[in-house]
Amino acid sequence: MTVAVSFEFFPPKTPEGAAKLRLTRQDLYGFKPEFCSVTFGAGGSTQEGTFGTVGEILAEEVDAASHFSCVGASKTTVREQLAALRAMGVRRLVALRGDLPSGYGMGGEFHYASDLVAFIRAETGDAFHIEVAAYPEIHPQAKSAAADLQAFAAKVKAGANSAITQYFFNADAYFRFVDDARRLGVDEPVVPGIMPITSSTQLMRFSDACGAEIPRWIRLRLQGFGDDTDSIKSFGLDVITALCDQLCTAGVPGLHFYTMNQSAATAEILRRLQPV
Ligand code: FAD
Repeated sequence: MTVAVSFEFFPPKTPEGAAKLRLTRQDLYGFKPEFCSVTFGAGGSTQEGTFGTVGEILAEEVDAASHFSCVGASKTTVREQLAALRAMGVRRLVALRGDLPSGYGMGGEFHYASDLVAFIRAETGDAFHIEVAAYPEIHPQAKSAAADLQAFAAKVKAGANSAITQYFFNADAYFRFVDDARRLGVDEPVVPGIMPITSSTQLMRFSDACGAEIPRWIRLRLQGFGDDTDSIKSFGLDVITALCDQLCTAGVPGLHFYTMNQSAATAEILRRLQPV
């Protein structure tokens, strides 16, 4: 099965982390990603690391997308950051609102990702291919499922080229989301975000924070493995490969992997999907 893939990394905090991420990227480049993306800390807290990692990926002759969050930002800062990215040769952005740590007011001149998308288009025309975030299981702060879907459609219509979803384990949530978005006139690709399962506690923590639902049968199986990491990884590979297989069979436009800067699980899932 051949499907377009992309890989997401976070900016490493230490020189050791940066060296390890270089090896991770080399392991994954064999799968010929359409692009690799690098996350961006809300409030610009990781700007240097994000832009630095994006620059390394471009130097490795792989297309790179910089995530870009606008919460708390001023138009002047965003304008400067966009100019810096263009000067680096970056042609792809994942445009986000982002989340400020609790205790910070929202502030800033942008309220939603749609404001950022519209601003980027107004300021830079077609200089960037813009991805936005999608939530098949509904963004945790949404007023309602319908309001979230309307907000998603408005965000795409503000000028996005495509979307990447939050991770999910229930393919039906994704299929329904895409059908509903199409009914609202969204024709752009909606690429499923895939989270390999490698650790039970980490997955529970992330999923609580971002509103991704872990089905009961997966949660209980993971809990039952306790500290047996080999069993967790083996189960995770089976579950996520089956999910990807189901998505690919349905004709999804690509798979975007949340690699957590690790190559092993993502590479094994892709090997199982694309046997050589
Ligand atoms: P928005 O699209 O602005 O939506 C945020 C909320 O506001 C939703 O509840 C929506 O329903 C609501 N809303 C939108 N427009 C309106 C409106 N006009 N009126 C009323 N309500 C509205 N976070 C990071 O900090 N850094 C990253 O690099 C990062 N990368 C991500 C990549 C992907 C693929 C995904 C799925 C998420 C990522 N996130 C990242 C997390 C993201 O920043 C959070 O989920 C954040 O809470 C929402 O960002 P958004 O761009 O989806 O916001």
